[in-house]
Amino acid sequence: MNKRKPLVSGNWKMNLNHFEAIQLVQKLSYALTKDDVEAVDVSIHPPFTDIRSVQTVLEADKIPISLGAQNCHWEASGAFTGEVAPDMLAKLNVEYVIVGHSERRAIFGETNEMINAKVKAVFKNEMIPILCLGENLEQREAGEAESHVTSELTAGLDGITGEQVSSMVVAYEPVWAIGTGVTASAEQAQEMCALIRQTISKKYKSSVGDSVRIQYGGSVKPGTMPELMQQADIDGALIGGVSLSAEDFAHTIQYRLR
Ligand code: PEP
Repeated sequence: MNKRKPLVSGNWKMNLNHFEAIQLVQKLSYALTKDDVEAVDVSIHPPFTDIRSVQTVLEADKIPISLGAQNCHWEASGAFTGEVAPDMLAKLNVEYVIVGHSERRAIFGETNEMINAKVKAVFKNEMIPILCLGENLEQREAGEAESHVTSELTAGLDGITGEQVSSMVVAYEPVWAIGTGVTASAEQAQEMCALIRQTISKKYKSSVGDSVRIQYGGSVKPGTMPELMQQADIDGALIGGVSLSAEDFAHTIQYRLR
């Protein structure tokens, strides 16, 4: 039985303008019941240009969904053309910031050092980081999944206190399962999430490992969610493609009804 309240997060990536974003939030709010949001925390992570509009709808209609961002810079301000500072997000009541998504690492060259600086900056601005980790297919086939994920975790948490880790979210997202339609099996996902929890318990103490929420991400669908959520160390999901459909995202959040 999981002791932690699950968190299901929708990563919209570079999809939906602010008009479309408002429509999706409204549809989602109709599809979710009071029981759903009591049982499961839900966050949505629109593109930066949508955040102000989505914030306005969530707050005006008192929709119990948390606002998230997909990324931020680690500095507070300065000559960083095209970047967004964490304080700018905090001012919009953003609660969760995805940090180190594999697309940021692979396409935009984000290193473990940059990602660690972002985790610190998110905490400094009183938001919660969702730190993404995951091996690619070559690493899995070479038997390096465990060592790769452990080293990303250790580097991402450098200088982060146990109290901070207790409140944060780690997302295990095998790169080979993201946007590919291939979901890791529930056993594969559990094995890696358990490893992440054990590594955190060892580095800090077991109460920190017991508190941190660990999501699985990678082609999660309404049909695969119930088995994933039965696993002892999986506390929710980070969801890309499926979160763009209010109906499918709501069905995924409602996994406990199936
Ligand atoms: C993601 O963007 O983190 C993700 C898991 O995407 P998808 O669900 O589309 O695989």
